[in-house]
Amino acid sequence: CGVFGTIGVTDAASFVALGLHALQHRGQEAGGIVTYDPSHGFNSARRFGYIRDNFTSQSVMETLPGMLGIGHVRYSTSGSKGATQIRDVQPFFGEFAMGGAAIAHNGNITNAESLRRELIERGSIFQSSSDSECIVHLMARSLQKALPERMEDALRRVEGAFAVVAMTATQLIGVRDALGVRPLVLGQVGDGWVLSSETCALDIIGATFVREIEPGEMVVITDQGIESRRPFRQQSPRFCIFEHVYFSRPDSILGGRSVYESRRQIGVELAREAPVDADLVCPVPDSGTPAAIGFSQESGIPYAMGITRNQYMGRTFIEPTEQIRNMGVRLKLNVNRALIKDKRVILVDDSVVRGTTSRKIKEMILDAGAKEVHFRIASPPTAWPCFYGVDTPQREKLLAATMSEEEMREHLAVDSLKFISLDGLYRAVGEANGRDNKCPQYCDACFSGEYPVEPADMIEKGFEL
Ligand code: 5GP
Ligand code: SF4
Ligand code: MG
Repeated sequence: CGVFGTIGVTDAASFVALGLHALQHRGQEAGGIVTYDPSHGFNSARRFGYIRDNFTSQSVMETLPGMLGIGHVRYSTSGSKGATQIRDVQPFFGEFAMGGAAIAHNGNITNAESLRRELIERGSIFQSSSDSECIVHLMARSLQKALPERMEDALRRVEGAFAVVAMTATQLIGVRDALGVRPLVLGQVGDGWVLSSETCALDIIGATFVREIEPGEMVVITDQGIESRRPFRQQSPRFCIFEHVYFSRPDSILGGRSVYESRRQIGVELAREAPVDADLVCPVPDSGTPAAIGFSQESGIPYAMGITRNQYMGRTFIEPTEQIRNMGVRLKLNVNRALIKDKRVILVDDSVVRGTTSRKIKEMILDAGAKEVHFRIASPPTAWPCFYGVDTPQREKLLAATMSEEEMREHLAVDSLKFISLDGLYRAVGEANGRDNKCPQYCDACFSGEYPVEPADMIEKGFEL
């Protein structure tokens, strides 16, 4: 998901809508905006679909007045059951004795089910099926006086990954979990402030990047300025390495590093680790593009756009059902036959998850007359599900959970298949000595199976580490 908030600007809702539009790649199912202004109080609109289709019309935007607002773009993750309902669309709003508060959450709460059971037993009435709603009920039960303190109390009970943007009538609040798994940055625009999942959403409204919210930090922003707090026990950070590989936009800066440059460097590492003689390096667009550029630069094999992506389709994996995903590939990608015919082709993609996309792409490339197909993958084999806010299927459905690299190669029926090593990936994101196995610098659980936060709800359901 993507979160965004702003304070101290005229027409906050327009900035939030633009920010969310720039974060649309983080979630395409639904979006919502909450604003506050003194004469109307809190205002909210939540809709299915793209921001550009819902938050551009005057009829919606004029219901969202105010100089303070937050928003959310959603896609459902591992915890969610069935199709999204509008009641699951964030931001969530709660009315407390000392006023209202709205919250938007990116990440996934790993003890949400036990928290929910406990809260329901004590009388909380849940409106949605979302894990994030726990935060609102925990805030309601807190004995603290002010809302930011109530939020601190609530978030101390929550396990897992969260980057939260929240607001009261006078405050914009940003928080990252102690490990800093999901990103959150601070920007400035005129006399106002901005919080955003990624820097690309600062650029769109002409805001300047100030700094990242630090892992374990909470900022409370008012028209008096910014106050920084440390509500959680300090731990060594474990930022999601997959944000660098796939999730973030390539024009964003994460941890002081250009996402594009990390991806290009992954391609360079791949070309060194797994060279192959071929005629063309082609990306699987768009997610494989920067790595393919790096692979071509390092290997000297020409880069070519062997596959064209229809720009009017979303990212396949955000489509929630497997059936739609299966159809999706041909609707979205097409091979440039004139280019591919009789060529030995290296295809660079970001990841192999279920393997369905890769299989179809290989078939399309062979149909177009390629002589050889070599897959080079910009992440290590995805053998474990993510429980921290990225949608990966159950372990049984992950190709790498049940097959060795050679078995995957046979399954995909390609001439060769190589994944970047975990150390190579760490080098590409700026860790010159690779992964520190005693104290890994990033979360890489979907590749290593080492979960930095125990997925309590999943273990209760029988998930085995
Ligand atoms: P596959 O066919 O292996 O399931 O899909 C792999 C390709 O689709 C990659 O190019 C990746 O960009 C995207 N993808 C599909 N499904 C998912 C998913 O559930 N999680 C992630 N992280 N990427 C996916
Ligand atoms: Fe990121 Fe993978 Fe960790 Fe999930 S498990 S937070 S996708 S590195
Ligand atoms: Mg892809």
